[in-house]
Amino acid sequence: MNYVDQILQRVNEKNPNEPEFIQAATEVLNSIRPVVDANPRYQEVSLLERIIEPERVIIFRIPWIDDNGKVQVNRGYRVQFNSAIGPYKGGLRFHPSVNLSILKFLGFEQIFKNSLTGLPIGGGKGGADFDPKGKSNAEVMRFCQSFMNELYKYIGKDEDVPAGDIGVGGREIGYLYGQYKRLTGLYEGVLTGKGLPFGGSLARTEATGYGLCYITEELLKAHGNSFEGKTVAVSGSGNVAIYAMQKCIALGGKPVTCSDSNGYVYDKNGIDVDAVKEIKEVKRGRIKEYLEYHPEAVYVEGKRVWEIPCDVALPCATQNELDEENALDLVKNGCIAVCEGANMPSTEKAIEVFRANKLLYIPGKASNAGGVATSALEMSQNSARLSWTFEEVDKRLQGIMQNIYSNIAAAAKEYNAEDDFVVGANIAGFRKVADAMLAEGIV
Ligand code: NDP
Repeated sequence: MNYVDQILQRVNEKNPNEPEFIQAATEVLNSIRPVVDANPRYQEVSLLERIIEPERVIIFRIPWIDDNGKVQVNRGYRVQFNSAIGPYKGGLRFHPSVNLSILKFLGFEQIFKNSLTGLPIGGGKGGADFDPKGKSNAEVMRFCQSFMNELYKYIGKDEDVPAGDIGVGGREIGYLYGQYKRLTGLYEGVLTGKGLPFGGSLARTEATGYGLCYITEELLKAHGNSFEGKTVAVSGSGNVAIYAMQKCIALGGKPVTCSDSNGYVYDKNGIDVDAVKEIKEVKRGRIKEYLEYHPEAVYVEGKRVWEIPCDVALPCATQNELDEENALDLVKNGCIAVCEGANMPSTEKAIEVFRANKLLYIPGKASNAGGVATSALEMSQNSARLSWTFEEVDKRLQGIMQNIYSNIAAAAKEYNAEDDFVVGANIAGFRKVADAMLAEGIV
């Protein structure tokens, strides 16, 4: 049996209860086939067997006391997947759906994403099945402190540097950092996404959404087009979605949708990003409150944004939020490009539809890498005890996204898969990690 097929079988056999991890591993393994087939050395050193196994997984209890004095218990995780090219780096997700499969898929994707940034960072991911929605600030703080009481043993500025993700924004990072500092006595860049007064980087909050738009613009430009005058469908209304909409408008596009897990808003006049920011960042409310600001907009409960006609689609909510039927809707309505702000938002079947209909499609591991890249810039600033200006960070981010686009486009072309950015991203990300693993011996 071909080496990649052996590994696919192994992934399925060893992780039967981890559908998201199997989905992510299958996509990567299938698209790196030509590189693996051309390098028998990988099989000699069991490189793929090693790359699909996390270096370490930590699972722990998080007891905390709610505002009624009742003891609550959540489950915490840190998946330290691969440190071949740098310390583990990847976000923490607090969401009731969190489980080992989801964190292993995210950690696995993170290895190749981090490699694509060109910066020295390995792959990891973590989180807890805790739902911050509806909790008081004091409850969120007690939860974060209890989470860190265990996690601090396994992280460090040169070891593992977590960041935010779904449900973990500036507030949570602040509480986590405060507790880390109290436990260790160290004031160091052990977390990214920190507040500006204590080591955060300007432009980190905006970075994933801005980076997504920078790479989308590169893609459109390379195909004789641009954001100018385009109608854009965005899903989600969190950190990534908000700043993607903001940059999309700055580049001349018109985002007409955004959503949360209850439903979506359609505003044909263009989404008012300040209103969304106020609802989500200040009031921590629901997206349907948008109608209080713009009664002429439409709110659709329980549906996805992809039924609204658009030229460009930017999924920015969560995994598997865009399926085959949604992809067919996009095609039918004349969408030309899909670039992912979220991690693995498109199902395998949706991606087949994009391919069959020649939609331009960039997978999240390339298009949302601006967040982790800017986190790495935050680490550099922390190490040097410096703060760069917003413009300086933004300029570097833009340069990194342009580089990612040219690298994934070149890798796709090299393997006769022009404009297949799944192949391009996986191959470009994989090669560097594989070379490092070869050089570092059997570890
Ligand atoms: P936030 O928590 O800020 O926002 C998440 C958004 O997605 C919310 O609008 C949320 O709605 C919605 N959402 C979450 N789960 C679901 C669901 N099951 N169905 C429908 N909508 C849902 O997270 P981020 O914006 O940080 O993250 C969004 C995506 O981007 C994730 O896939 C994340 O992994 C990815 N990402 C984030 C980066 C970052 O820098 N933050 C970097 C790279 C990738 P609700 O409020 O109802 O839950």
